[in-house]
Amino acid sequence: MKKRKLGLTSKILLALVIGIVIGIILYSLPDAKWKDDFLVGGVLYVLGTMFINALKMLLVPVVFFSLAVGVSSLSDIKQLGRIGSKTLIYYLSTTAIAISLALLVGLTLNPGKNVDLGAVQEGEVSVNEAAPFSDILINIIPSNPIEALASGNMLQIIFFAIMFGVTMTLLQEKVPTIKKLTLELNDLFLKMVGIIMLVAPIGVFALITRTFAMLGYDAIWPLLKYLGSVLIGLFFMLIVYVILLRIFGKVNPFVFFKKIVPPMSIGFSTASSAAALPIFLRTAEESLGVDKKVSSFTLPLGSTINMDGTAIMQGVATIFIAQVYGSHLTPSDYIIVILTATLASIGTASMPGAGIIMLSLVLTSVNLPVEGIALIIGIDRIVDMFRTSVNLCGDAVGTIIVANSEGALDEAVYNDPTKVIR
Ligand code: ASP
Repeated sequence: MKKRKLGLTSKILLALVIGIVIGIILYSLPDAKWKDDFLVGGVLYVLGTMFINALKMLLVPVVFFSLAVGVSSLSDIKQLGRIGSKTLIYYLSTTAIAISLALLVGLTLNPGKNVDLGAVQEGEVSVNEAAPFSDILINIIPSNPIEALASGNMLQIIFFAIMFGVTMTLLQEKVPTIKKLTLELNDLFLKMVGIIMLVAPIGVFALITRTFAMLGYDAIWPLLKYLGSVLIGLFFMLIVYVILLRIFGKVNPFVFFKKIVPPMSIGFSTASSAAALPIFLRTAEESLGVDKKVSSFTLPLGSTINMDGTAIMQGVATIFIAQVYGSHLTPSDYIIVILTATLASIGTASMPGAGIIMLSLVLTSVNLPVEGIALIIGIDRIVDMFRTSVNLCGDAVGTIIVANSEGALDEAVYNDPTKVIR
């Protein structure tokens, strides 16, 4: 009998499920040196961190070269403006929808009512100061591009790569070598993504097993209503995506969800949109059939500023904290929450745990105590894994919609089940 070879997607999914099961088993075993020091703190930690480092290693070169090549393949500069404005409109409106959904879910399920505060384990809170809007604008332009690349400042890298691509197009015949080199480097780094993907099942397994072996399950029970409300909010957002994909993307949403399993699993296990970005760029092009001129812009920008999942957590958490402290929020407070949470999610770094720090901005905008964050921080890793997956999903939906409107979506590739990243 012929043996069927498992595809990469199935292998990663399998690693995820086995990792969760083994992680929970490890957690339930009594403390022992072999388990805590050798396995969880040793082997799994080393493998997981090596995998995350490999993903981070790819981030800057893949984003830079994809975007430079993508921009240089635009028909004219106007197209860049059009893609840019469509993307921003999509990202801002879906984030506002996400928070409104979260507020609705929060007000219906009342996660903060009748919470047994004695059972809640409070954590440490670090508060973030809001950067003035002028600073955000100023900082888009890197005063030193090398520093921007070295520190991985995504908005600055996006700006510099666009300038590079545009200038390369303007110079056309004068820089054939640079053009060729940029193209070749882009291919090289995308291939490197493919190589790293070969070990993704091991990386995902190590990360997920360790996370679940260390999760503070006891912290979950008193906060089950909060956790459940966030998950319901996230689920509703997925339904919004299905509708958006159908109406504006004009594609089959189920094909979409099937094809984005690998990058979503990376996002879930690392709780970082940035870590999943290189794989997402490759998936968009090779598996979803999106032209690089759209995905190379929409995905890096989305992973930096579009965080629908984070916005949902911030909306539910605000209601939770208001209810726990017995504060009454007025309708105008809700409008303020929608506006500040949109800004806060834009300002959230695509790293684990960043969203909960930015929550302090939303809370202070409606005079809620920032210490409230201490109540939910204990279970934030679980919430983070789910919201990061939704953050990524939102970027990909936007990419499909913008690509479709620009005639930059190859439906034959999109609908081809054999076109999966491997
Ligand atoms: N971890 C999230 C992300 O990378 C950000 C957050 O903490 O909400 O998308």
